[in-house]
Amino acid sequence: MSIMSTPDTTTAGTESADTAAADTVRKPCVAFLSAVLDMHYLAPAFRAACPGIDLRLGNDLGRLDDIDAALCWYPPAGVMSKLPNLRLVQSVGAGVDHILAVPDLPATASLCRIVDPDMARGMVAYVTWAVIHRHRHMDDYIESARSRSWVEKPVVPPRRHRVGIAGLGTLGMACARALLGIGYAVSGWSRSAKTDLPDGLTAYAGQDTLGDFLGQCDTLICLLPLTDETRGFLNADLFAQLPTGAHLINVGRGDHLVEADLLSALASGQIGAATLDALTQEPLPPEHPFWDDARILITPHIATRTSPDVIAAQMLSNLAVVDAGGRPRWATDPATGY
Ligand code: NAP
Repeated sequence: MSIMSTPDTTTAGTESADTAAADTVRKPCVAFLSAVLDMHYLAPAFRAACPGIDLRLGNDLGRLDDIDAALCWYPPAGVMSKLPNLRLVQSVGAGVDHILAVPDLPATASLCRIVDPDMARGMVAYVTWAVIHRHRHMDDYIESARSRSWVEKPVVPPRRHRVGIAGLGTLGMACARALLGIGYAVSGWSRSAKTDLPDGLTAYAGQDTLGDFLGQCDTLICLLPLTDETRGFLNADLFAQLPTGAHLINVGRGDHLVEADLLSALASGQIGAATLDALTQEPLPPEHPFWDDARILITPHIATRTSPDVIAAQMLSNLAVVDAGGRPRWATDPATGY
């Protein structure tokens, strides 16, 4: 029996041919695993992409040896090791940190993330908004409009505002291109050196260049994956290397940030403002001190999204590649953690 994990394109055929095909082609069996999210909203896209697909949702996963692949967002521990035929573990997002944190992740299954142009466009929209919002004093204008006051703030041209992006990958590079298009002075920092850079982008690579990169970031954007190396990256030592009054935008993960260090840096004026889309504790509890500081703007992890049809198509295509003995294009490297 073979498994059909690509979209079903069968449109015609005799009844006996269909019956024969049904005997030999088994539709994939996909479990949706999340300890924090109701993933039912993704099911229609999977059924549309692959009619007859065997979806396992909720707590009762049925016969565990049927399951070929798991779609995950913060999956519960102790489940994946019970799936003897699991060959693909697919994140619903660009990051895989929430999956690598599960102790029983099977080493034999491919681990993939979503890479989606729409996700990049959403991130570009969020990041350009966040940069412009602070650079052009929109908070002050919203405040002065409340008292019907016409108060002008200095207009600094974009080329004199330096925006640094930590993480020059799929999303970071898309944001860099958009910010360059507006005219900002853009730099990026990554682990490995980059070639084919867009005109005007200054690129830094490696730990040795971090200080030079940070020293010229009027706005710092974190678009790193969360790994053992990057956890706590946004800390007091890093803030001290930024220009005084810098704006921090964290659209990576909450655990990139040492929260107490941000509060201290805001208190001293070393950091002037922070826009945070990802928080260690989500939802951020009402009593959290971040809500009390007007210089911190919180958004509820909405910087971008991927549509269910893209997740379904990419996951089914990844399963087909794995079953053909290949390595999916967006497979992550467990050694680096991204
Ligand atoms: P990506 O393509 O894997 O890019 C990651 C970048 O970070 C690469 O440039 C990589 O360097 C760099 N990097 C990794 N570890 C590093 C280190 N130790 N030091 C310096 N640079 C390092 O990832 P992506 O698709 O752009 O996504 C980035 C992250 O955004 C995701 O992991 C996720 O956490 C976050 N995200 C957030 C949201 C949201 O809604 N807030 C949505 C989507 C994604 P190399 O180029 O040298 O490999």
